[in-house]
Amino acid sequence: MSEIISGKIISAQINRELRTEVDQLKTKGIEPCLAVVLVGEDPASEVYVRNKKRTCEEIGIRSIGHNLPDTTTQEELETLVQNLNSDPVIHGILCQFPLPGDLDETQVIQTFSPEKDVDGLHPMNAGLIAMGQPRFISCTPYGVLQMLKRSGISTSGKNAVVLGRSNLVGRPIATLLSSKGWDSTVTVCHSRTADLAEVTSKADILIAAIGIPEFVTKNMVKKGAVVIDVGINRIDDPSKTKGSRLVGDVAFEEVEAKASFITTVPGGVGPMTIAMLMVNTVNASRWQNGLTEMNL
Ligand code: NAD
Repeated sequence: MSEIISGKIISAQINRELRTEVDQLKTKGIEPCLAVVLVGEDPASEVYVRNKKRTCEEIGIRSIGHNLPDTTTQEELETLVQNLNSDPVIHGILCQFPLPGDLDETQVIQTFSPEKDVDGLHPMNAGLIAMGQPRFISCTPYGVLQMLKRSGISTSGKNAVVLGRSNLVGRPIATLLSSKGWDSTVTVCHSRTADLAEVTSKADILIAAIGIPEFVTKNMVKKGAVVIDVGINRIDDPSKTKGSRLVGDVAFEEVEAKASFITTVPGGVGPMTIAMLMVNTVNASRWQNGLTEMNL
């Protein structure tokens, strides 16, 4: 049986540290502030935004919501972002994706001031990660790293295999794990990888971020591997009142029997993502006031 790495417990710990940090910043006259932009009425996005605002409140971060109708034009959205960029009260800007209709996310991301890009999506911040000088690390990869670190898992010299190469998750995780300080030997797998099970079964650390329910089965995992499941997939389950339930990219029950450490879905990487958004917002407020980042 493996040890569960609980994102719920670790994120609660980080949020407690942040509360203390925010209290101290307030004594210096600094109130960390996050602008939260939501376009349209997608129910899943509304839930994510609500959870982020609630966590801000718990920690003492001020959040300012901007709810725009789904008729919003690209120009209107970018004008709002530009206004937030130049508003000195705002330290971080979050725009909840996906955007409705024809709105262009890449274009919106490029409108963010890199200094306020707390989701770590701007090309400047992605480039800094690639250069081994991260500023804002996108929240899910940052959460994965904190889970490993706070569980006492050494990454140095380990074979890490990352399943998925998205700009949001797979690619930054792979880049970070191979960078100085983390020092893993990293293989990135994707939909065209040949002999996938052969590659994944050599991993000391296996990170699944592909978005296919329970894709990683026990034959793909080395005995004693650390398995981090980033996937969030909803599947039908008539036994549940909702008629469905959430599962990850890993077939949890069979892989748990083989792994040394494993994360769950839900309760794994998900809560870490919000906690790291809070960390980035607090760090944004520190940097914009000439202070160094928090020591996590
Ligand atoms: P994405 O669709 O952008 O990328 C999926 C990646 O998986 C692609 O690089 C693709 O090449 C790879 N892939 C697809 N099929 C494959 C296969 N058969 N074999 C190997 N690789 C394959 O998805 P994403 O945004 O990176 O998200 C991945 C998963 O993580 C999704 O389930 C998403 O919901 C979840 N997610 C979770 C969080 C969180 O907070 N926990 C945050 C972001 C994304």
